[in-house]
Amino acid sequence: AAKGAGRGRARFFSADLLQAAEDRRLLEHDLIDALSKGELAVHYQPIVGARSEEVTGFEALLRWNHPKRGRISPAIFIPIAEDANLIPQLGEWTLRQACIDAAKWPGELRVAVNVSPIQFASEALPAIVMSALANSGLAPERLELEITESVFLEDGSETDARFAALKRLGVRLALDDFGTGYSSLGYLKTAPFDKIKIDQSFVRGTTEEGARNQAIIAAIVALANALGMETTAEGIESFDQLETMRKLNVSHIQGFLYSRAVASEELATHFKDGKWVIQPQGPARQRHI
Ligand code: C2E
Ligand code: MG
Ligand code: MG
Ligand code: MG
Repeated sequence: AAKGAGRGRARFFSADLLQAAEDRRLLEHDLIDALSKGELAVHYQPIVGARSEEVTGFEALLRWNHPKRGRISPAIFIPIAEDANLIPQLGEWTLRQACIDAAKWPGELRVAVNVSPIQFASEALPAIVMSALANSGLAPERLELEITESVFLEDGSETDARFAALKRLGVRLALDDFGTGYSSLGYLKTAPFDKIKIDQSFVRGTTEEGARNQAIIAAIVALANALGMETTAEGIESFDQLETMRKLNVSHIQGFLYSRAVASEELATHFKDGKWVIQPQGPARQRHI
């Protein structure tokens, strides 16, 4: 019986894996047409000055509204797009769309666009960025590209060349999910970042982990300040977390406490006199998008 159960379990696990692989294959297939079918949209989450509570810009976050499955998280479909070689096309579309939307926003508001390591590895990236700027009329300093530490795992001279070409265009660069990758601090010496985004995992944690996380955040802020970079704390959901980040002198805040990512059309209704001053809202008042 034990043997039988073992076999049964093995069969169960492999069936599960098969199901997952099949699922992925189906999603990949649907993703190929998602763009042309208009199922993808770029939503925008405000990034807020920690003290001023003034919105300084928005992060562009891709949304997929699947006709049968409903909303699918980018945490699921971006890796699929990367594996299936769909990211160059998806990434370029998102970048162009984000520039077009941001060019209509008032004032100096910036847009931050996530750039996959696969896009970053391509020699074509600077030309695509230049074209997206020219086509939309967006000033280069209003575009920020969010890059993760994983780009430093690639060939160093290629990486340096890409940074130099992007900086020549005048766009801003942000280091996303800082502290979660495998890289050393060495690259901060030369990589021309304007901002470090402190990963959500440092904001969370129990009270016990909290003290350690705060020590790490304080060190990141000190490092960023010394190198002339701004900081954004991601994933701020509570007033307590907001207060802690202010105390630690983090310059910018992003999180559900202020707002989730909202559709482009909805954004326009929030601006007043070219500004969007935003109040933090308790979880009870959160709208789900
Ligand atoms: P990310 O770049 O680190 O983006 C921040 C993520 O944190 C977003 O998840 C955002 O909705 C979420 N977030 C913001 N505030 C809070 C909060 O208070 N609490 C919690 N729990 N989460 C918060 P989202 O939109 O699901 O995106 C997940 C990841 O997918 C992004 O992480 C990014 O790596 C990737 N992604 C999204 N859009 C794109 C895109 O256009 N291109 C590429 N290459 N990747 C993208
Ligand atoms: Mg990001
Ligand atoms: Mg991030
Ligand atoms: Mg993240």
